Amino acid sequence: MSEELNLTVLQQAIAEQYPEIVLTAMSPAELVFETRVTMSCFYCKNYDRNWHCPPRTPKIDYQRMMLEYGRGAFALISLPFDENNFSEIRARSTNDLHQALLKLEKVLWDHDFPMALSFIGGSCKLCKNGCGTERCNHPYQARMPLEATGVNVIESAKKYGIELHFPPKTVLKRLGLLLW
Ligand code: SF4
Repeated sequence: MSEELNLTVLQQAIAEQYPEIVLTAMSPAELVFETRVTMSCFYCKNYDRNWHCPPRTPKIDYQRMMLEYGRGAFALISLPFDENNFSEIRARSTNDLHQALLKLEKVLWDHDFPMALSFIGGSCKLCKNGCGTERCNHPYQARMPLEATGVNVIESAKKYGIELHFPPKTVLKRLGLLLW
């Protein structure tokens, strides 16, 4: 059954609900890992606050783990914003990308890829009022940001013609990753 799956099937699975998300086929071997990305996490306000951000993430070799996957796709969401709705768009961009990736994981599960896994863009924002104090409120749905694995998202995306620049001026972009 797995050979029937391709990127078109995955894109179609989210096209109606998430038309702002575009999938791009990529190879896990092309991901750029950098130690300095870890320092960016350390200086983020979510460091040691979010259950799926460092240092609360598994202490594994992420580069090695990702190379265990044969296929991958970047998921890019692009949402226009202005000064009046930036906070709303900021949360929506993370959550829409997150929900779309969970849906894609389910599609892959249904096509005999039980180890399919996704990484979101930005910290998990599933809980409107922030993380639970004792534990994650949604351990099956929560996912890690791609950048929390040590991937330089900007440099990795650039290899596939995806340009990410900061600060965003009129369009907010977030990049997630799907592996299977
Ligand atoms: S699901 Fe909720 S508690 Fe878990 S990491 Fe996401 S925001 Fe935090």
